[in-house]
Amino acid sequence: MSKAKVTIGQVFKTIIWPRKKLLFIGLILIVISRAAGLVPPWATKPFMDDILVKGDMEKLPMLLVMVTAAILVQAATSYLLTRILSVEAQHLISQLRSKVQKHLLRLPIRFFDNQKSGALVSRVMNDVEGVRNLVGTGLVQLIGGILTAIISVGFLININPWMTLFILLPMGIFGVVTLKAFAYIRPVFRERGKITAEVTGRLTETLNGVRVIKGFNAEPQEIKVFEAGVEKLFLNVKKSLTSTSLVTNLGTFLVGLASVGIMALSGHFKLTAGDFLQFTMFMVFMIAPIVQMSNIGSQLTEAFAGLDRTEELMNTPVEDDGTERTIQLGSVKGEIEFKNVSFSYEEGKPVLKNISFTAPAGSVTALVGTSGSGKTTIAGLAASFLNPETGTITIDGVDQSKISLDSYRSQLGVVLQDDFLFEGTIRENILFPRPNATHADLQMAVKAAFVNEFTDRFELGLDTVIGERGVKLSGGQRQRIAIARAILANPRILILDEATSNLDTESESYIQNSLKTLMQGRTTFVIAHRLSTIRQADQILVIEDGRIEERGKHEELIEKKGRYFELYTYQARI
Ligand code: ADP
Repeated sequence: MSKAKVTIGQVFKTIIWPRKKLLFIGLILIVISRAAGLVPPWATKPFMDDILVKGDMEKLPMLLVMVTAAILVQAATSYLLTRILSVEAQHLISQLRSKVQKHLLRLPIRFFDNQKSGALVSRVMNDVEGVRNLVGTGLVQLIGGILTAIISVGFLININPWMTLFILLPMGIFGVVTLKAFAYIRPVFRERGKITAEVTGRLTETLNGVRVIKGFNAEPQEIKVFEAGVEKLFLNVKKSLTSTSLVTNLGTFLVGLASVGIMALSGHFKLTAGDFLQFTMFMVFMIAPIVQMSNIGSQLTEAFAGLDRTEELMNTPVEDDGTERTIQLGSVKGEIEFKNVSFSYEEGKPVLKNISFTAPAGSVTALVGTSGSGKTTIAGLAASFLNPETGTITIDGVDQSKISLDSYRSQLGVVLQDDFLFEGTIRENILFPRPNATHADLQMAVKAAFVNEFTDRFELGLDTVIGERGVKLSGGQRQRIAIARAILANPRILILDEATSNLDTESESYIQNSLKTLMQGRTTFVIAHRLSTIRQADQILVIEDGRIEERGKHEELIEKKGRYFELYTYQARI
C-alpha cells in the first residue's frame, strides 16, 4: 500500500464542507455558550467593587439573575452541541466503516494474501474513529476557544494594556512550542494504528490457530511475540503521552508564571480588588482555551493519522473498476482455454510457464502433480482470482481479462479444502450463494450432497446452528454442506480443491457420489487427490514445476509409463 498523507484541504472538502450547516449551527451554539461563559468573570468586578466594597445591594438581584441565566444557557447549548455534532460524528464513522469495508471486498485476492485479517479488521473499525474529533465537538470547541480567547484579550486590554502585553509573551512561546509538538506527534499516532493492527492481527491468528499452538507446545513463543507487540505499543503511547503532557504542563506553568507577574504588576498599576480579580478571571478564560487547544490539537492529529491510514487502503486499486472489464457475459457454454499462460507471484520467479490447454464445455479437468507444482495457481487463474502475466485465458472464446468480474463470477462456483462455513444454520450456509432459492431446489441440493443423511438426525434439521456457538461437524459433514451449496448455486464453471483429509469409507462414498452429481455437465477444474475423481476426468494435466508435463486420460497415461504412472504407483502403494 502506498503511503498517503491527507491534507487539511481534502478533509475540508470531503468531511467538513458537506456538513457546513450542522457545523455552522454548532459554531453559533459554541459562540452563545462561550459568551454566556464570559458573564461570571465579568460579574466579579461589580460584585467586588460595588456590592462588597461599596455595599450597593440594589445591584445584587440583577447580577444573580444574569449569572444564573448565563449558567443555564451554557448547560443548554453544551447539551445541544453534543446532540447535534457528536451524533453526526458517529453517523459519519459508521458511513466510513461501510465505505472502507466495501472497498476492501473489491480488492484482489493477492492483496489479502499479504495482509493479516485481524489487521484489516482494525483498519475498518478503528482507523476511522478519529473523525469523531473533526466533526464532533472537537473542531467547533477549538474555534469557540479561539473566539473566547480573542474576546478575553479585548477585555484584558480594556482593563490594562501593559499587563495584557506582559501575559501575551509567554502565550506566544507556548503557541510555537505546541505547533512544533504536534508536527512531532502526528507520525507517532500514525505508527500507533499500524502497531495496534499488527498486534490485534497476531492475536486473532493465535486464537484461530490455538490447536496448532498447543499441539506444538508453542505458547511461550506466542506469549513472547505478543509481549513484544504490546511493549511496542506501550512505547508508542508513552511517546505521545509524554509529549502531550509536556505541552499541557508547559501551558499550566506559563499561566502560573503570568499570574505571578500580574500580582507583581497589579501593585505598580494600582488596580482595584475587582479589577485584579476580573483581570485574573479573563486571563484564565484566555489561557484555558489555549491549553484546551493543545488537547484538541492532539485529537485532531490523531484523526488525521487515522485518515492517513484509511486513505492508504482506499488508494489501493480494486480488482475491477469497470473500465477494463467491460464485457458482460450472458449465459455461457463454459469452454475455457489457456493460451501460453505464464504467471509469477514475485517478479523474476515464474510459477507457471507457458501453459496451454482447452477445457471443453462440461468437461472435467483434473490437475495432478507434486505439491508446489502450480495446481492451485492454475485453478486461481481459471477462477479469475489471479490474472495471467502473459498469455490469455478465454471463456467461450472471450478474453477473460475483458469480462466484468461480477458477470464472470456469477457463472462460477468454488469448493475448497476446509471450506468456509460461517456461524449460522446449515440452511443459511447452503443458501448463501442463492438466498432466494426455492424450497424444492434446496431439498434437491441437500439430497444430492447427502446432507440430509446427518441433518435428519438433528432435532432442528437444516435449522441446526453450526459454528462456535453451535453443533460441531465432522470434516466430511462440512464438505457435504459445501458441496450442497455449490450444487444449489448451479454454476457453469466449477473449481474444486478436493480435501486431502482421510475420511471413513462411508463418508468417502457419500462425498464421491455427491461430487459426481456436482461435476455433471459443468466445466470443472479439480485439484484432485482421489483416484476415483481422477479416473473419471475427461483430461488429466500432470503439472511439474509450472509446466504441463503430461496430459491425457487415466488409461492412456498409465500405458505411457511416464510421470503420471510414477505418481500413480507411488500413491497406490501408500
Ligand atoms: P500446488 O497447488 O501445486 O501445491 P501452488 O500453485 O499453490 O502449488 O504453488 C506454486 C508455487 O507458487 C509454489 O512454489 C508456491 O510457493 C508459490 N506460491 C503460491 N502462492 C503464493 C503466493 N501467494 N505468493 C508467493 N508465492 C506463492
